[in-house]
Amino acid sequence: MPTALDPQLRRALAERIRYYRELGIYDFYRRQTATPLESPAADLDPQEPMPKPKAVAALSVKEGADLFAVPRPEAGVSDPVRALRIIREDLGDCTRCRLHQQGRKQIVFGVGNPRADLMFIGEAPGADEDQQGEPFVGRAGQLLNNMIKAMGVQREQVYIANIIKCRPPGNRTPERDECETCSPFLMRQIAVVHPKVIVALGAVAAKTLLAMNAPMSELRGRWFDFRGTKLAVTYHPAFLLRDPRQKGEAWKDLQRVMKELGMPVPGKNPN
Ligand code: URA
Repeated sequence: MPTALDPQLRRALAERIRYYRELGIYDFYRRQTATPLESPAADLDPQEPMPKPKAVAALSVKEGADLFAVPRPEAGVSDPVRALRIIREDLGDCTRCRLHQQGRKQIVFGVGNPRADLMFIGEAPGADEDQQGEPFVGRAGQLLNNMIKAMGVQREQVYIANIIKCRPPGNRTPERDECETCSPFLMRQIAVVHPKVIVALGAVAAKTLLAMNAPMSELRGRWFDFRGTKLAVTYHPAFLLRDPRQKGEAWKDLQRVMKELGMPVPGKNPN
């Protein structure tokens, strides 16, 4: 039987949750640890010292529910257009990570059909995206458009976003803390759009969404469960621009997605 949570620890947890809420973070995710902890407190920021597991184990289910039940501002908003607008407003002129000081021109939120069955998630905006405020509008975006067209759909019918919303300097790979700070907003966008299938474009998107570290060879060709939504992994279009021989493999991935969505599957390979 769990005993009551120590009041001091309870206050500290509530304070921490309030802090995250101000950052726009409403969900806490459990990361696998070598020594399993039994309490939701294990889901708090792994970079901060954790409360001791022994004390934490005393958290009762009721207390846990009370502490962690923080409604997102868009909760209960049934119109996805409005809900996405609320998330965008919550994001504001974001200064939550260092990228706001490293040359980003604007936040690249996401684009497309707010009720899309299919959602593509890339890594981070590049120079063109930063300039135009829309994901995948540069060369990689042109290829993504061709891939989408080859599936028999239009770009406007799908939803497109990135793991992070600001361009990293020199288009470097996003740092883990940048992904962790920014991706809760993407999680909220996914929850609002509620697609039938998510396609993670490249390893950064896949590893962040799935919270696992695996090579592309192990990530492609499988279905993953992302909070009840099917998730497939394929190559990032920028990688396909560098190694066009892999386009056939990416096309196989997309054909599996089409089949899953009940779409007619043409044999054509996008080029
Ligand atoms: N690469 C990405 O991952 N996202 C973009 O929006 C553009 C290029």
